[in-house]
Amino acid sequence: MIAEVIVDIAANETDRIFDYLCDENTIVGSRVRAPFGGKTVTGFVMKLKETSDYPMEKLKKIQPTPDELPALNAECLSLAEKLAARYRVPKALTLRLFLPAEMRTGKVRELTKNFAELLVPFEEMKLVKSAKNQIGAANYLAENGKTECAYLNNLFPGGVAALAQKGYAKITQEQIKRDPYKTVTAERVERVLTPDQGRAVKTIGEDKRTVQLLHGVTGSGKTEIYLTLIAACLARGESSIFLVPEISLTPQMLLQLRARFGKNAAILHSGLSAGERFDEWWRLRTGEAKIAIGARSAIFAPMENLGVIIIDEEHDSSYSSESAPRYNTFDVALLRAKKNGCKLVLGSATPSVETYKKAKEGEFSLIRLDKRINKRPLPEILIADMRREVRKGNNSAFSSALKEEIEKCLAAEKQAILFLNRRGYSQTVICKECGYVAKCDSCDVSLTYHRDENCLKCHYCGMKYGMLTACPDCGGVKLSYAGTGTQRVVSDLQKLYPAARILRMDNDTTSGKEGHYKILKAFAEKKADILVGTQMIAKGHDFPEVTLVGILDADMSLHFSDYRSGERTFQLLTQVAGRSGRAEEKGKVVLQTFDPENEVLRFATTYNYEGFYENEISLRTAMAFPPFSKIVRVLISGEDDKKTLEGLREVYFGLKEIYERNAEKFLFFDKMRAPIKRIQNKYRYQVLMRLSDPSVLPLVYEVCAAAKTRDVLVSVEENPTNLS
Ligand code: ADP
Ligand code: ZN
Repeated sequence: MIAEVIVDIAANETDRIFDYLCDENTIVGSRVRAPFGGKTVTGFVMKLKETSDYPMEKLKKIQPTPDELPALNAECLSLAEKLAARYRVPKALTLRLFLPAEMRTGKVRELTKNFAELLVPFEEMKLVKSAKNQIGAANYLAENGKTECAYLNNLFPGGVAALAQKGYAKITQEQIKRDPYKTVTAERVERVLTPDQGRAVKTIGEDKRTVQLLHGVTGSGKTEIYLTLIAACLARGESSIFLVPEISLTPQMLLQLRARFGKNAAILHSGLSAGERFDEWWRLRTGEAKIAIGARSAIFAPMENLGVIIIDEEHDSSYSSESAPRYNTFDVALLRAKKNGCKLVLGSATPSVETYKKAKEGEFSLIRLDKRINKRPLPEILIADMRREVRKGNNSAFSSALKEEIEKCLAAEKQAILFLNRRGYSQTVICKECGYVAKCDSCDVSLTYHRDENCLKCHYCGMKYGMLTACPDCGGVKLSYAGTGTQRVVSDLQKLYPAARILRMDNDTTSGKEGHYKILKAFAEKKADILVGTQMIAKGHDFPEVTLVGILDADMSLHFSDYRSGERTFQLLTQVAGRSGRAEEKGKVVLQTFDPENEVLRFATTYNYEGFYENEISLRTAMAFPPFSKIVRVLISGEDDKKTLEGLREVYFGLKEIYERNAEKFLFFDKMRAPIKRIQNKYRYQVLMRLSDPSVLPLVYEVCAAAKTRDVLVSVEENPTNLS
């Protein structure tokens, strides 16, 4: 028998099928060990056949690995091939997506434990009185039956081993599945679906379209709908995938899932140890667990017979991968849903503009949930005009309106969340007196301050602008380049309210295995009055005691140099506001801004998604931004500046040919240094394109795949989230 094997080396030169001899019981999809260039490497059996085009005597033989099932099933194999073709990367790279990293390194193994049981009744053993440990162990086993050796050895050191040697007991090795949630117990809450929820579940079942968009305001009970869909699949013996942004896998969420689905669910999150992840993955592969819950990468869960795929918070930017292959989770999910003939459910209070457009045009089904559960009102949003505060001489991070609300909240012994809108290191210039923001003349996105060149730059066209000394609109000289940090906010807050218990959550405080779980747990248990944090606190959390949310700098994300900044801001504000008043008490939100007339903020404060969408889509049409075009960036990077430049030249000339033959499909085409010229010692150049017709994309990928060398990395990004 001949096996067609892909070796697990991600390089263009090795990205092809190699023939090997294998024995009769080799199965397609299994992992094997293959002799390759003097070494032995891991490989995957893609196909089996009787004959090879190579002379048989030249073929080497592969060795099987001791997996209980082939690691990859047929669906995974075909999906990996499709993705490799789509993103023009070696198949080894896409095959890896389907396996837990722990499996590839080979450092984690199945966990086995030794167990002892008696072979002879206690009375028949001939043991001397002084052999206390043997007697103790024998007694224990006689009473309790089979027991773990480690446990016995603790009580009676050496006892079991001696018994086994005498033939009185036998020791067997058994495989143990690590259970990351041993200690998690929760009451199972039975809920009756509200009529709205029931209707949504019914529509998803009956509508013929594959993609179902659940557009429901925060707190409208989307989670309950997902759980109902998953439970229905489980009852039919089908499996399901439930994707959430990593950050939403909060302790409460884990508890809820565990209580509901017990061992049927495998929850994959970054808090698991390598061994735990490995075992959870195998539980899914063998079908012992039928529900995969996790962040982006769980879309590659190794299950068969999928009944539903759910993507919660579908607009979240964590669903697009930032490393090769730069897949889009939705695209992969859609392929899987179509292959399995199941529904793909997208949920969000603030769908992405691209998704919503498709739903409005009828390509996706659109299901609305306009009310919160129990008709609880959405929190009232007050706007605090920070320009006025500055003029009144208040230079602190808190407006008087916010201070007033914090005091009320503390007095009522409720909880507050203060949100700081900072991300990345890109910086914009904002006039503190009038709210003016410097923008590119031709792209209508905000400019980014580049400290090294002391200038402002547009990340979409590369245009440079001089620095400002005064505001061109009002002449004010109080220009700000950055907001205040969380640390500063906490210390200012503590000075204002010495008795308040304050928790901080940002990148600095959440490192470590369970960093953010611990903070959220403490807050949920009311061990603090105020939680101060960044983006991390915006999503998904359900803290019933929170009645006040303060958004300290609502504008910051409006002025990211990104065509999606309006969309991001709307989503973020809606999400953050949604944390307030989720239980009996009505919630309040104070939104601080230097730009109170801004349309996006206006739509957000009135929860007017439709209005926001109409406004945004007309802007995108006018500027020819996605979804009316596709932005493509080819990034060329390498440690040697000269070689990298040569790489850029090769890519550029290859692409230029495509451009010249298809000029009508391009809105923009140019090469330039990347906005950040060097990251981690790698020089960076880019070719930026904006395509009105993406049909030339495969050609672009082809040119880039060919230009990649040992020293120069070439990557293609479609509608990248980050243009730095
Ligand atoms: P969303 O995901 O839409 O933001 P959640 O699923 O978190 O909303 O639901 C909001 C709140 O309503 C939660 O506290 C949840 O426990 C509760 N809830 C959801 N569905 C029901 C129901 N059918 N009956 C009672 N309470 C519900
Ligand atoms: Zn520009």
